[in-house]
Amino acid sequence: MGKKTKRGAIFLDRDGTINEEVGYLRRLEELRLFPFTGDAIRLINEHDLWAVVVTNQSGIARGFFDEEFVGTVHDRINELLAAGGARIDRFYYCPHHPKEGRGDYLTSCECRKPKTGMLFQAADELAIDLAGSYLIGDTLEDMETAAHAGVTGVLVKTGHGKNLTLPESAAYHAHHVLDAVRWITGERKR
Ligand SMILES: [Mg+2]
Ligand SMILES: [Zn+2]
Repeated sequence: MGKKTKRGAIFLDRDGTINEEVGYLRRLEELRLFPFTGDAIRLINEHDLWAVVVTNQSGIARGFFDEEFVGTVHDRINELLAAGGARIDRFYYCPHHPKEGRGDYLTSCECRKPKTGMLFQAADELAIDLAGSYLIGDTLEDMETAAHAGVTGVLVKTGHGKNLTLPESAAYHAHHVLDAVRWITGERKR
């Protein structure tokens, strides 16, 4: 009694993983979820895993857009997903950059991937079992983040992931986020 049952999470990179990579996403009209993203997120929800987005948004530090805009994008993502019965449980973003940024945003923070701040904060707030968790992303930095945090990395071939080689630390090279989630949920049943 009183001890929380820890659930695993599937951490998801945002740009290039659940929506099209467009460089810095500065206008809501540029937001396009991949056609398979809704099914992927719903599968996470159905397996009683946390669906948690962790995204570097240094466009805030660079002055391309503000935090309010990022919040608007994330609300919109969940609106689009809701149409297919899916939801992201929590969004975490890093607004900083170590070399380019204005004011307080110019900092070598602990949250910018490949650092683990966002994952550890989520683990704290949601009581996530990190060892039973995964990070799906389209870059080698995402896979480094997974390795640093002790979660299983899954690389996708969308976004920046097209021509990458799967690093040894990562577990599976998926075609896209739905393939990744199917692999993870199948894996967990074994
Ligand atoms: Mg990405
Ligand atoms: Zn940060």
